[in-house]
This record gives sequence, structure tokens and C-alpha cells, in this order.
Amino acid sequence: ARWLPDWLQRCAENTPDHLAVKCGAVRWSFADLDQRANRLARQIATLGVQEGSRVALLATNGLPYVACVHALTRLGAILVPLNTRLTPQELCWQLQDVKAMLLLSDSRYASLADELQLPDIPHTTLIADVAGNVSLEAIPVAESECSLRSLIDLNATQVIMYTSGTTGHPKGVIITYGMQWWNAIGSALNLGHQPDDCWLACMPLFHIGGLSILMRSVIYNISVVLHERFEAEAINRAISEDGVTIISVVAVMLQRMLAALDADHKQYPTVLRCVLLGGGPAPRPLLEDCARRAIPVVQTYGLTESCSQAVTLSPADALRKLGSAGRPLPPVQLRIMRDQQPAQPGEEGVIYLKGPTITPGYAERPEATTQAFHDGWLSTGDMGYLDAEGYLYVLDRRSDLIISGGENVYPAEIEAILLAHPDVEEVGVCGRADVQWGQVPVAFIRQRTGSDVQAASLLAYAAERLARYKHPKAIYFVEHLPRNSAGKLVRRELIKLLPV
Ligand code: AMP
Ligand code: MG
Repeated sequence: ARWLPDWLQRCAENTPDHLAVKCGAVRWSFADLDQRANRLARQIATLGVQEGSRVALLATNGLPYVACVHALTRLGAILVPLNTRLTPQELCWQLQDVKAMLLLSDSRYASLADELQLPDIPHTTLIADVAGNVSLEAIPVAESECSLRSLIDLNATQVIMYTSGTTGHPKGVIITYGMQWWNAIGSALNLGHQPDDCWLACMPLFHIGGLSILMRSVIYNISVVLHERFEAEAINRAISEDGVTIISVVAVMLQRMLAALDADHKQYPTVLRCVLLGGGPAPRPLLEDCARRAIPVVQTYGLTESCSQAVTLSPADALRKLGSAGRPLPPVQLRIMRDQQPAQPGEEGVIYLKGPTITPGYAERPEATTQAFHDGWLSTGDMGYLDAEGYLYVLDRRSDLIISGGENVYPAEIEAILLAHPDVEEVGVCGRADVQWGQVPVAFIRQRTGSDVQAASLLAYAAERLARYKHPKAIYFVEHLPRNSAGKLVRRELIKLLPV
């Protein structure tokens, strides 16, 4: 049961004319995508890439990215997606850490890739012409002898994906085809599968939330609308015009989409059946706002190590369990541990996961792998609790926890309160060292344009709504908050903004 017929090839055989991916004005059917993946695979093979070769990709969301993902599958090579926001130094570190044998880029990142000049890691550019053909620059498209695979080995590594690194040094998470398969199945069993589904991808494909959409497309035989980047007006237009039924977003994106929607006095069409919201804590006011507008928000919790969704709220429970991330998807086991003991319902502890959607470990990091796993359970490093009905409430990252006078203070809870204030656009909370309490929470705030709120009134607002030990002790106004490319707040960067 280890081998499955190639997912994309099946789509191309079953529904050759069905839209596989729309990006800008270009539309590829499954037959188009299949042919392009094969052609590109043959070209890549001429560079010596074979089964198990690690091929890094530095590219923005686009058709070259999509073709490359599937081309590497046909060669049995391993994709190493690079975060386009990294500095040259960070890119070099990652390329060497993963022992890449080739660096591919799109034309936008070609000069950055050239600049890296790693002696053992050659660079080649993926070129897309106006007709949407993708090929390697300066490499002839020979009908080479190389044999392309038509079976997928579920145990094989598909991707080594470095985590976004909101905590320490990035580690390369091993993602197998089996993880993708079981994740897609688990998601479909929860959200339902409709043949005319169309999934909008605007998160970077170098993060699991983006890449997993491409996998679901070929596993489910459904269309993807791919956006190069997140731009609220363009996303709203696509939802209205492209028949989008599902979109994956993080909270800041959804906030901006709603603001743009209001500015246009518009509503989403009813074919939009699922706004999958994950990646970080979902502020309650946002969820309530969406509930009022009947926007079908489905909360989810997951991580790179769990190949995206691990726990998702079913649409039927969305209102009844507002604020919960839901229940584990069918293939996933979950437990909360407190002092090495399973926690009781309502008791806070560390979230552990197990199952076929969970990574076997970190590439080249046996110690990190040993550290992260206990009896086959992955420690997520996140804190949470289960309610009496087994619904998960995620509190925060263990490492972001503020311990003030012995009390646990979760930054996300304070952030959610302040975010509900009409003058607050964005907020980040972290701990500041304090002689009396050990640590106290402080808040960094970006005001809404045009508002001129005073720190004192925000402090009073928070004081009315939070227990005393959770009151922020200071408010700092900032122009923007440190976020990574997935839009997640990087709290350790906040700490650096503290005045000394
Ligand atoms: P990454 O480390 O980039 O793979 O992102 C995974 C992390 O995002 C998790 O370990 C959590 O800290 C955070 N996260 C994801 N989903 C949620 C959620 N629903 N609520 C709170 N935090 C979340
Ligand atoms: Mg992580």
C-alpha cells in the first residue's frame, strides 16, 4: 500500500480539460500542467538531478513554481522551498545546511540566486514565456532518455521545508508524500469534497499552508487560483469573479480583506463555502465579526511538522465553539501533557500530536528530532487545553508564555482584547523583565490611520477587561510589527524593540 498512481497524472487522464491552476491571465488545464511538468522534469534531469537529489527553489508564487513542484515528483527528487524574504547570508546557510545539489529560481529571484555564488550549488533560472510555458534557461529541451515516474511512494520525502522560524534557528522539516495524502484525506473528511471546488492560494508556496493547496488540487482533482502575493482588493475580486469556494488565510489577511470589502460595500458570494483560518491565534472579535456577516470561517491549528491542518473546527461547530481550533482530523491523535502526565479536560498543557500526517523528523538533525519526539509523539511547543467535549483551545507558544508573579500570561489573549479597540489596527504583546514580578506584559500597537488614541486610554480599556496580572504595563506605538512571510507575529523581535 506504499505506492499510488501519480496524482497529477490521474487528474490529467480523468479530466484533462478541467482547470488545474489559474494564475494572472493564464489558465492551465490538468493536461497542460501534466505536460509542462514532464517537459520540465526532462530538462531538470539533464542537470544530473535524480531520485533523492535535493533541489532548492527560490521563487515567488507562480506557474514556474507549480510546474517545478510536480516535475521534481516525476524525478523522485526532493524540493527544498526557500523563503524569498531571507537575506543572502541566510539563504547560503540553508542551502549548505540541506546539502542542495542545485538551486532553481524564477526570473525575479535570478540575480539574488546568482549573487549567492556557492561553489558546489549551481544556479539555473526557470523562465516562463507569455504562453505560460516553463523551461530552464539555456538548457535544451532534449527528449532525453530519462524515465519519469508514474507512481508515488508514500514513504518517500517530497519536501524539506524550513520552519518559518518565529523561535530559534530554522530546522528542515521532512515532509513525505504520505503526510500530504493523509492530510488531504483528513481535510476532505472534515470540510467535504466537491468536484467544483476552487481553492484560492495567496499564502507563499514556500510555506506548508500554501504548498499543501497544490497537493490537494491534484489529490482532489480541483482547481487552484494562485495569487503571487496577498493583496486584499485583488483577493476579494477573485472571490467574486473566479468561483472560489475555499480560501486559506491567516488572521491579518482576513482583517484586511474585510476592511477592503467594507470600503467597497460588498459581500462575498455564497459559493465561498470555507475561509480556512490558521497559522496563528484568531482574535475573537474577528471571529465574531465574521459570524455576524455569515462569512464561513473555519478555524484550524497546525504546523509545518503536521503538514498544515492537524486540528480543524468543523463548519457545523463554527458558532457553537467560537474560539476553538476544533477537533483532531481523523488521521491525527492529540494529547495535552502537563508535568509528563495527560492533562484533564480544562487543564492547560503542551500539545502533542501523532499520526501519519506528522513528520518523521528534521533533516540532518537527529538531536532535534530526538528532542521533539517522546514515544512517537511530537511535542508542538504550543500550549493549549481540551474542553469536556474534546475541542482544542490553543493558548500560545510555550516560548512566548509570560510568567508574571507565578501566573501564566498568554500574549495572544491580551492581543485579542486590545485588537477589539476601535483605534487599534495591529498589536503584539511580549514580556518585559521586571524586578518585582519576574516578567510583565507590554504591548506594541499600530494605530488605525487617522486615529490619535492615548496610551492611558488603551491601558484603561485593557484594565477593564483583563485580570490584574494580565494588564499590560506599557504601551508602545510603532509603525509596523515584526511579522514573518506567513504574516505571523515574531514576538522575539518585539522584545528587541523594547526601549533599554
Ligand atoms: P510554523 O512554525 O511556521 O510551522 O507554524 C506553526 C505554529 O503556528 C504553531 O506551532 C503555532 O504556534 C502557530 N499556530 C498555528 N495555528 C494556530 C492556531 N489556530 N492558534 C494559535 N496558534 C497557531
Ligand atoms: Mg514551528
